[in-house]
Amino acid sequence: MLDRLTLAAAWIREAPSVAALTGAGISAESGVPTFRGKDGLWRTHRAEELATPGAFARDPLLVWEWYRYRQRIIAGARPNAGHEALAGLERGARDFTLITQNVDGLHARAGSSRIVELHGNIFRARCPVDGSLRDLAGDEPETIPLCPRGHAMRPDVVWFGEALPEGAIALAESASRRAAVFLVVGTSAVVYPAASFATIAKQSGARLVEVNVEETPLTGAADLALRGKAAEILPLLVPGAARSAVGE
Ligand code: NAD
Repeated sequence: MLDRLTLAAAWIREAPSVAALTGAGISAESGVPTFRGKDGLWRTHRAEELATPGAFARDPLLVWEWYRYRQRIIAGARPNAGHEALAGLERGARDFTLITQNVDGLHARAGSSRIVELHGNIFRARCPVDGSLRDLAGDEPETIPLCPRGHAMRPDVVWFGEALPEGAIALAESASRRAAVFLVVGTSAVVYPAASFATIAKQSGARLVEVNVEETPLTGAADLALRGKAAEILPLLVPGAARSAVGE
């Protein structure tokens, strides 16, 4: 394992361009539940049953209660050493793009700024009628935020079955094509098109490095698969990048 960590760290250090695709696993050690396994249940509902346009049309209050619950967890969470290592990579690398499926905003709180949020952000609401946005961070508004004319706003996130924002796809695609090293961190790689960016990168000549506690459908394509927790492995790949764990 040590040899493979050293090799991956050298690839990253020498790469003119690096991109990373992160998923819920990188925030697991901050205490934010992933969607898979028992952690994915809220009350009796599975995430896949709530994060859909159909669920919102049927019961917007139920969906918003679930999002409020998740917002509270995330507001009380802190970025971990994995987020901080990637923020450090951005400070050091010539060209680094962070593509994330996460909606929790923890990468930004760790100090990353070149972030492509593929699936939106849980602290924003969007009016389906006029497209207006509302920032939900920091306040405690009513459970269902309302559009100017009284319609229910929806969370500004991409639900199962919905298209990703085109601008985000374009940025993620071009970063994937440029990357000499592509990191895939804490994603089950079953949600598309997010997982396809790793394939695009690989086909464009990138070295694919996976960091995950388990095997995924991408493991076979990885040049290096590093088994373990993101908060433990990423700081070893980007030595010196993490800020001190105390005193944010
Ligand atoms: P996922 O829940 O499908 O998969 C999580 C992956 O992380 C798994 O492969 C698991 O083995 C791995 N993992 C768990 N703990 C880990 C750790 N400590 N270190 C490294 N890997 C770890 O998540 P996904 O692939 O991101 O896809 C699900 C969808 O859920 C995404 O669209 C995302 O928007 C959404 N989601 C986001 C959050 C968040 O913003 N934090 C949380 C849950 C779900």
